[in-house]
Amino acid sequence: MYKLTPAERLRMVMEKTGLSEEEGAWIGQRGLSLDQADNMVENVIGLIQVPLGVATNFVIDGKETLIPMATEEPSVIAAASNGARMARKEGGFITSATDPVMRALIQVTGIADPQGARQALLARESEISRLANEQDHMLVSRGGGMVGMEVEIVPTRMETMVVAHLLVDCRDAMGANAVNTMAEAVAPLMEEITGGKVFLRIVSNLADRRVARARAVFEAGEIGGSEVVDAIVLASALAESDPYRAATHNKGIMNGVAAVTLATGNDSRAVEAGAHSYAARSGIYRSLSQYEKNGDGDLVGTIELPVPVGLVGGATRVHPVARANVKILGVESADDLGRIIVSVGLAQNFAALRALATEGIQRGHMRLHARNVAVEAGATGDAIDTIAAKMASEGNINLERAAELLREL
Ligand code: NAD
Repeated sequence: MYKLTPAERLRMVMEKTGLSEEEGAWIGQRGLSLDQADNMVENVIGLIQVPLGVATNFVIDGKETLIPMATEEPSVIAAASNGARMARKEGGFITSATDPVMRALIQVTGIADPQGARQALLARESEISRLANEQDHMLVSRGGGMVGMEVEIVPTRMETMVVAHLLVDCRDAMGANAVNTMAEAVAPLMEEITGGKVFLRIVSNLADRRVARARAVFEAGEIGGSEVVDAIVLASALAESDPYRAATHNKGIMNGVAAVTLATGNDSRAVEAGAHSYAARSGIYRSLSQYEKNGDGDLVGTIELPVPVGLVGGATRVHPVARANVKILGVESADDLGRIIVSVGLAQNFAALRALATEGIQRGHMRLHARNVAVEAGATGDAIDTIAAKMASEGNINLERAAELLREL
């Protein structure tokens, strides 16, 4: 695919995924209009474009899937495709997910007897639940709605607070607006029950009840042999225990996760906040993925993180390119999208670890970055590729050399 022009690639994606001419035009030519943008956010003055590419080779739960990725970083899409290719031999990515349950927090303050208040709230759960569900008939009609409640007692530097968590199945919505509405609606009842004063009523981005998982087996022969397997397991062991390494390990995962999140018009900050807070849930910030060597000597990668994404609400239905990207993915539910997103995170992470465990990350990365350096030096048209190729062959990729080559040309 990388040998085609952008227009040829788009045509191929349209043929493979059944995108209409109009949907293809949104992606390839029209993009978001200024008027549409003006309806999305405030004080609009323009648009900033981000490249949209398609990662290939993904087999997810037995299905061939093309992955639209929006990212400004070179080598992300190539690496994801490469990682996915190496998982194919053993069947690709196998996924699972919890129900799409989000939490809304209600902070009750001024309570003299937190244990008593907690029990009083729990005793009235069905009444609270009824009131919450009355706020969103549409969600309830789709099989969602409040499914439970937890009440925490939280000692803070100010006072001991009672924090109620509404657990809400958000079906195909990311759900922040949906649960915030519920939290605001039940707050007066909670004040009445506890005699306290409610302040915050808001979704928690630590969406630990809405996680997706993926695993893949990478055959040792396919990835460079048992030494590579061992090196990746060692790299994983460090990221599972050391926050300094875990941060970069997880950044690599988020290269893939954020690119698909953005391409589908979802809230990338919500996904980032969820991922990093989940990584720190034990009290130590750890990696979101793990690698082991199985009994056959092959590498087994696993990943688990919250994926609060939706197919309705937010910008997903409003942004025409996001809508077309959802169609490319062929997903029917938010759950499907979450499971694809974590698979991309795992492929991305595996590709980075493999590069680190073998030739190092810089060679491939800088080769792909060389074109950016050439452009930064002022190259245009054919000169970009000529200069990038020359710098790559010299193993000397920097702005000074690019400028020199441009002058020579
Ligand atoms: P939303 O309110 O636009 O859409 C959700 C609603 O769609 C549901 O409440 C339901 O009534 C309806 N719906 C129709 N079909 C549905 C189906 N099949 N499944 C589920 N619901 C269906 O959006 P939302 O998902 O509640 O909230 C997402 C938005 O909230 C994003 O734009 C996000 O950026 C923003 N947000 C995020 C935060 C945060 O993460 N902290 C806080 C506030 C707002």
